[in-house]
Amino acid sequence: MSPFAPSERQAVLVAIAERLGRERFAPRAARYDREASFPFENYADLREARLTALCVPERYSGLGADFASYCLVSAELGRWCGATALTFNMHACSALWTGALADDLDMSAAERARHEQHRALHYRRIVEDGAIYAQPFSEGGAAAAGAAPFGTTARRVAGGYRLSGRKIFASLAGAADYYGVLCTEDKPAPSLADTLYLAVAADAPGVAVEGEWDALGMRATVSRNLVFTDVFVPEEAELMPPGIYHQAARRWPHMFLTLAPTYMGIAQAAYDFTIAYLRGEIPGVPTKRRTYPTKQIAAAQMFVTLEQTRALFLRTIAEARCDPAKPERLRAYAAQYTIMENTNELCRLAIRTCGGQAMLRSLPLERLYRDSRCGSLMLPWTAELCLDRLGRETLYEPGERDNEGKGR
Ligand SMILES: Cc1cc2nc3c(=O)[nH]c(=O)nc-3n(C[C@H](O)[C@H](O)[C@H](O)COP(=O)(O)OP(=O)(O)OC[C@H]3O[C@@H](n4cnc5c(N)ncnc54)[C@H](O)[C@@H]3O)c2cc1C
Repeated sequence: MSPFAPSERQAVLVAIAERLGRERFAPRAARYDREASFPFENYADLREARLTALCVPERYSGLGADFASYCLVSAELGRWCGATALTFNMHACSALWTGALADDLDMSAAERARHEQHRALHYRRIVEDGAIYAQPFSEGGAAAAGAAPFGTTARRVAGGYRLSGRKIFASLAGAADYYGVLCTEDKPAPSLADTLYLAVAADAPGVAVEGEWDALGMRATVSRNLVFTDVFVPEEAELMPPGIYHQAARRWPHMFLTLAPTYMGIAQAAYDFTIAYLRGEIPGVPTKRRTYPTKQIAAAQMFVTLEQTRALFLRTIAEARCDPAKPERLRAYAAQYTIMENTNELCRLAIRTCGGQAMLRSLPLERLYRDSRCGSLMLPWTAELCLDRLGRETLYEPGERDNEGKGR
């Protein structure tokens, strides 16, 4: 793929997302946001358009989108409804990670056969039954940042596992059919390599949704808490064979960039709104403000920031691969940081530039602003952690000690 020109296939997929977004999702977004309710109607539309099977490989009757294609579609969805795009990320990436990404990883013949058998089941559920998958990883400790094993544990029993633990901020809580849970195999002194990735049926005995979700932004993600109490999970629920998620996280780091396209879409939406507003094209607010030089400068600043952000986004998604070279990996952190921070900055500038009438709740800008604030908080690649990694990895090579000279 040329980083700056989508393929014909990508253009078709993006056009489907654009049609749904413009005609269906955008008009519904304010209501879902106000109610903090899950966009079920949007998901019915995504199913009908077959986008829920976007990343299911073609040989399993999906649309077979690769990493870059997924990112382009996700960014387009984000333009129209951030919460739909963000939750769609959790669902679509359950298929992307177990599909195209997993194909790049090393597995023994037995592991590969086991993976093939299990993912066929998951893909059948998505394609034939319209099942939706979530990705509840966060627990509030160090695990979601990749710094410690997950506290949620799975004990091996006949035919599968017994799962117990608690997840916070689980987007699609109460809406997904399956929760793709990252947990640790219950054994003495477990390490990150003992991470398991299991799809737990939402209606399995012992699964409970708890707490409220009344958040600043991304309200329609309904990211409530999940509690698992000794839940029986059959072996075929494995989304990856034991040990393979850990390999994926090390060798396919761009897998964690998949949250960023949503925010790239929000950045575009904030820019589009501002231009339309200043030109007097927003229904109900016909005041033309483009004649003022300060507005023109602000529009120019927004354009520059948007294009800088998009350039890094497109380059990074085009070079994503297994075992990326160090500059590619570092660029992925830089892209995540840039997209998340610049999107919020663009929304801030959009409100300042358009003015008071533009931040009323009857218009989408204040929602874009609130949604945009969430991007930098998302583990494992929060804005802070991207800077941490960049700071360390630009200055040190793997294996070099990074505590030299401390205290001098
Ligand atoms: C809208 C929204 C939807 C979400 N949906 C999901 C979801 O579907 N699934 C899911 O698993 N999670 C989801 N999350 C959770 C998200 O990924 C984070 O886990 C959550 O925001 C972390 O909460 P916290 O900031 O309180 O975490 P804390 O762990 O308290 O981290 C606070 C900050 O400290 C820094 N930090 C954390 N750990 C380290 C470390 N080891 N070293 C140095 N600095 C560190 C980071 O910069 C982090 O931002 C969602 C979050 C939001 C906002």
